Amino acid sequence: MPELPEVETIARGLHKQVAGDTIQSIWLGEKPEPLKSSPRDIAKVLEQSKILRVRRVGKHIVFDLTQTGKKRERQGQWVVHLGMTGKMQVTTPDVDIAKHTHAIARLASGREVRFVDPRRFGRLAVVGARPSAASFQAPGDEPLESQAERFIELFRGRKTPIKSALLNQKLLSGVGNIYADEALFRAGIRPRRRAASLTRDQLHKLHAAVQEVLREAIALGGSSVSDYVNADGEEGFFQLQHRVYGREGEPCLVCGTPIKRVVIAGRSSHYCSHCQK
Ligand SMILES: [Zn+2]
Repeated sequence: MPELPEVETIARGLHKQVAGDTIQSIWLGEKPEPLKSSPRDIAKVLEQSKILRVRRVGKHIVFDLTQTGKKRERQGQWVVHLGMTGKMQVTTPDVDIAKHTHAIARLASGREVRFVDPRRFGRLAVVGARPSAASFQAPGDEPLESQAERFIELFRGRKTPIKSALLNQKLLSGVGNIYADEALFRAGIRPRRRAASLTRDQLHKLHAAVQEVLREAIALGGSSVSDYVNADGEEGFFQLQHRVYGREGEPCLVCGTPIKRVVIAGRSSHYCSHCQK
């Protein structure tokens, strides 16, 4: 499943390729699951809209659109969540349409943006079909923009394990399992610790660690952008070397203690019992 750094990388790659282009028409598949807005609303917002910008909001890809009508300009947004297996492809029409293609946006440049998702946990929606609609916002705070004081305020006093709190999308938007484990390791905090038991100093460290792991992963992902967006295949990202995630039983890279795995709220959590308290 793509996590925040991958979504950021994909959004930047899409922006480079399609900003300034205009969506002329949209084709939608017959499977209803991927569509969170009605086909009519999707067509209304997307067709004849210029793509101003593509950016990440939480784990969503947002296309900011503008439509120049006879009377006035209308702003809209195309919001895509990749789910487990979703991909956005920028391609030319001669490229075979992959199985599990749910949407094709045809662009004025002659290219197409295709949404392909075999497992159908991904979602497409639009904002702006009705004049009153506000622009799309993720439910929680943006982790890369959150200030230390705000971060501390979000987490202090919570009775849940800190790992669960990090994954709670209503607090921070877009932090997934891998980067939560990696951030907790760097901050020296065990995933099962109650958020309320952490000191201000520990929360400060955790805030810095969350931003650090996400920024490092984004920096690594940058070099593989075009591959991911263009290819119809399996090109992955250069991943951050995981220090704990997925390393159960392997020696801690700092102290050599075997990494432990526990399940917290149904999710695997990995930590070093020596380095993390
Ligand atoms: Zn260790």
